[in-house]
Amino acid sequence: MQYRHLGRTGIQVSELSIGSWVTFKNQVDVDAAVEIMAAAYDHGVNFFDNAEVYASGKSEEVMGAALKKLGWRRGSYLVSTKFYWGLHDGINEKNTLNRKRLIEGINGALQRLDMDYVDLIYCHRPDKTTPIEETVWAMHNIVEWGKALYWGTSEWAASEIIEAIQIAERHHLHKPVVEQPQYNLFERGRLEGDYVRFYKEYGYGTTIWSPLASGLLSGKYNKGIPQDSRGALKGYEWLHGNLTNQEKLAKVTALEPIAKELGGTVAQLALAWCLKNPFVSTVITGASRVEQVHENMKSAEIAPKLTPEIMERIDTIFGVKREEEDDD
Ligand code: NDP
Repeated sequence: MQYRHLGRTGIQVSELSIGSWVTFKNQVDVDAAVEIMAAAYDHGVNFFDNAEVYASGKSEEVMGAALKKLGWRRGSYLVSTKFYWGLHDGINEKNTLNRKRLIEGINGALQRLDMDYVDLIYCHRPDKTTPIEETVWAMHNIVEWGKALYWGTSEWAASEIIEAIQIAERHHLHKPVVEQPQYNLFERGRLEGDYVRFYKEYGYGTTIWSPLASGLLSGKYNKGIPQDSRGALKGYEWLHGNLTNQEKLAKVTALEPIAKELGGTVAQLALAWCLKNPFVSTVITGASRVEQVHENMKSAEIAPKLTPEIMERIDTIFGVKREEEDDD
């Protein structure tokens, strides 16, 4: 496993990591979480991503219980959580980054995870109604109190991230250091666009999500929705449009000969493609079973095989024309 600095911070994250969205609690109980996390850790994974909203707090409970059973040295791994949607419908408790909610959020998360601190906390989405200054101060305070060590954003607009950084700089507060955007062969948007400036100017790190587009980029949906897949889960019908999109499925099928040529699977190729981007600090993978962890971790062996020629072939499949890179 290779490790990359989380942007310009001093900590390093394994280039492949594990997240618990959808899986923990819904598909994976504590014993299965132990198995998945142990397999990942054995492959060198040191970062486990979570959020308060996943399974309404239960995902944090499962991860906390699994970590207790695993008994690893706390210094050997990183855990994150995120706040925005909240767990209750109260007026100040949902879709917000107000100070009260963030502080109650971190206290609740630490209880559910049964930890003294988490390593990273994210503002899971921007909040257009709370002044960014209030959010920056609350996140700073949480870090000052030692309840989290670093903080970041998820799916914030470039202008919002800049505002947060500037407020923090003006008041000598802990700045956000990392963004968590979606990034995969179908969703290159911000990471290859607006955000490039942050990596270069501010040394912002990125922990990217849904690298397989919820499994679509493994090829498992090429012949319909398998019964034992995320696509068949109750409550995730909203994913069907993507998972059965014929145009997208044709692109996934077109990756098969390339994956075969490189001696890997389509999932490994799709993950390796994410790893090729130097602005990605870590690719957060998801797994509903341990075999997927073993398969996905091997994508690190495929990444060096992605020559410029192979990258161009992949771009052609996805109808992407790369502009000439500039050197600044
Ligand atoms: P992926 O796009 O990689 O999807 C993971 C799912 O794909 C697995 O749960 C599994 O589902 C299937 N899968 C994984 N590997 C394979 C394989 N080798 N072969 C076949 N199927 C496979 O990632 P996620 O969408 O799970 O996102 C990863 C993490 O990113 C999350 O856990 C979370 O931590 C974070 N995230 C953050 C968000 C944010 O807003 N900040 C939003 C979403 C995610 P199954 O077996 O059930 O079909």
